[in-house]
Amino acid sequence: MLTNPHPSTRGEALARLEEFLPMAGSYGRDRNAVLPGHPNVSRLSAALRSRLITEEEVLRRVLAVHPFPAVEKFVQEVVWRTYWKGWLELRPQVWTNYRERVVWLRQNAPEPVLRRAEEVAAGRSGVAVMDRFARELLTTGYLHNHARMWWASFWIHVERLPWELGADFFFRHLLDADPASNTLSWRWVAGLQTPGKVYLIRRSNLERFADPSWLDDTSGLGRLDDSRVVAVAVEEHADTKVRPLPVVPEELHGPTDALGLWLHDEDGLPERSPLGHLKRPTLMATTLESEADPSMSLVVRAWRARAGADVRVRAESQFQSGAPMEPSAEQPLAESLVQSARLHGCQRLVGLAPAVGPISDQVGGIRRRFEAQGIELVLVRRRWDSALWAWAHRGFFPFWEKVHARLKFQSDPDASIRVL
Ligand SMILES: Cc1cc2nc3c(=O)[nH]c(=O)nc-3n(C[C@H](O)[C@H](O)[C@H](O)COP(=O)(O)OP(=O)(O)OC[C@H]3O[C@@H](n4cnc5c(N)ncnc54)[C@H](O)[C@@H]3O)c2cc1C
Repeated sequence: MLTNPHPSTRGEALARLEEFLPMAGSYGRDRNAVLPGHPNVSRLSAALRSRLITEEEVLRRVLAVHPFPAVEKFVQEVVWRTYWKGWLELRPQVWTNYRERVVWLRQNAPEPVLRRAEEVAAGRSGVAVMDRFARELLTTGYLHNHARMWWASFWIHVERLPWELGADFFFRHLLDADPASNTLSWRWVAGLQTPGKVYLIRRSNLERFADPSWLDDTSGLGRLDDSRVVAVAVEEHADTKVRPLPVVPEELHGPTDALGLWLHDEDGLPERSPLGHLKRPTLMATTLESEADPSMSLVVRAWRARAGADVRVRAESQFQSGAPMEPSAEQPLAESLVQSARLHGCQRLVGLAPAVGPISDQVGGIRRRFEAQGIELVLVRRRWDSALWAWAHRGFFPFWEKVHARLKFQSDPDASIRVL
């Protein structure tokens, strides 16, 4: 039994990583089995997604205790996360198009489609095993990767529902809800990510990898018989052309007095970042809760509140600043940030650049609002992100080859990964 299945602070995430280390060597063999309690996987995704711990830290630690060949699969999975982030960063319009499609579908999809989508999401599809997975997601905020693949495929290719509504359902309920990993995994299951490749749920695969306890109620299972599941031809609505990666500095230049430091949900580790050296900035913490769809799950909100509190306590201690300002949840983000900045006489607001997603969607508005007040907004990006995202212009395997060649994964505690 895991000591903490949902690590929501940095301390808990580091402890979970230590607990997982002995399992990392058998991860390649065991990771696909979907067992109660999910003992074969790290459960670090929410902490990684909110950057309570970084990909680089996880890989360094795993490689410090295992030879690379023994943990190659695990390293590769962590790097998948970086790849998806880079892929979307190079094509931000895919995210925008998906969000627009969700709004459009909610307003325009036929009533029976919307009703069925609600039933399936509520765990009332009639296929007992899929309904158990839906309930697991609703109550815990987590699903095993294989269960996510089955469930997304069930939604798209068996229920024939729009993938965007399924992705939105996941996005509102996963503790690790990530604009890149979630959207692009759904697109991959739908057959939009890799030409000619669709992921089809198969009863035989489910019976092979799901613990029998998931399948003790066989109601509706016949709908998943291998011969009955046929791929839906899903239409592409997005432009997937690569755009230049916006140039974002990797360190802060210029004066460091009268600074505000923006803490947001995209990066919970400011003290170990290019901004870690700042002295006594005014801390301004915002949380996505106020911006998010009000239907965002309560489980997710509670997790984020705990994670956010942890970030604020660490930041206060590292930067020797007073307790962070918490801009009003009632106001638009830009407005409340600008008010806090003015109140504290900040001449610059600095922060870690949010990746493509709901927060970065607001950066343009925040920047304009600040500039109108004569306050500069300066965002910096971690070196890991700048270096690796730029390589995600093609498929995962060319990306992996490059990462593998350039990062020189070694089993050496001091120099296990060198970025570039
Ligand atoms: C339809 C669908 C939706 C998904 N949505 C998300 C999401 O919103 N957020 C998210 O973090 N992951 C998402 N994933 C990827 C994956 O399912 C989760 O990262 C993983 O299940 C998290 O559990 P874990 O931490 O125990 O992973 P582990 O198996 O222990 O893997 C270690 C870490 O590697 C990364 N990782 C592992 N598998 C993948 C993968 N296939 N793609 C990207 N990163 C991976 C995660 O950061 C994970 O924490 C999705 C997958 C599918 C099929």
